[in-house]
Amino acid sequence: MDPVLEVKNLCFAYGGIQALRGISLKIFPGEIIALIGANGAGKTTTLQCISGLLGKPKSGEICFKGQLLNGKKPHEISRMGLVQILEGRKIFPHLTVRENLEMGAYTGKGNFHKDLEEIYERFPRLKEREKQAGGTLSGGEQQMLAVARALIAKPEIIMMDEPSLGLAPLIVEGVFEIIKKINGEGIPILLVEQNSKIALEAASRAYVLETGKIVLEDDAGNLLHNEEVIKSYLGGNG
Ligand code: ATP
Repeated sequence: MDPVLEVKNLCFAYGGIQALRGISLKIFPGEIIALIGANGAGKTTTLQCISGLLGKPKSGEICFKGQLLNGKKPHEISRMGLVQILEGRKIFPHLTVRENLEMGAYTGKGNFHKDLEEIYERFPRLKEREKQAGGTLSGGEQQMLAVARALIAKPEIIMMDEPSLGLAPLIVEGVFEIIKKINGEGIPILLVEQNSKIALEAASRAYVLETGKIVLEDDAGNLLHNEEVIKSYLGGNG
């Protein structure tokens, strides 16, 4: 089986700061892949390089559905079906819920009215809040809106940056239920998470990043029981 997304030896620097030192990873159809690692390890930079937000990487290759993404613009990449949900949810706070969803339809791929119906069936809370400004929603509802906006763009793969950030544990569980459900419907997901435990519990495979390099990769279940991972990322003593 070919990977949906493959990153080969990706290097990226912010000026003199070498943030990625040769990242290689693959996502196959149906997978949830977690990227875990400490603050500053390069997780967000990896996602932003893939989605084109940081311009052309210094070196390495990013292939999506067999096409090279290097140098493509973020809007071209999302139109191809690779959609990112940014850290901090990044909805438009002054636009209504519905207007936020309209912004998600920029790829022009679906039938907005039909897709909106489906979104409202899936997330009845968003229908209830349709006319409310996005910024007045709770953190969990904003994450729901960010996911809904990504779905309206008709993604073939979704990249999520820190979906648990700033949310209460019960809400985080709800967000991960949504992530698993979407994945179960056939959308592979590349997940960046500080909350390593919940990420590994949801993922099929995972990569561990340290200072811009992948230091471990394995089935998520194995990593949950890996002593180094437990010590460094799961808050345990091994
Ligand atoms: P976090 O969870 O804290 O976001 P991360 O694993 O996502 O961590 P990155 O944000 O990708 O890590 O950061 C990787 C490295 O690049 C770090 O050394 C960081 O300080 C640096 N860095 C990130 N963004 C910038 C920027 N805009 N300008 C300069 N250096 C940056």
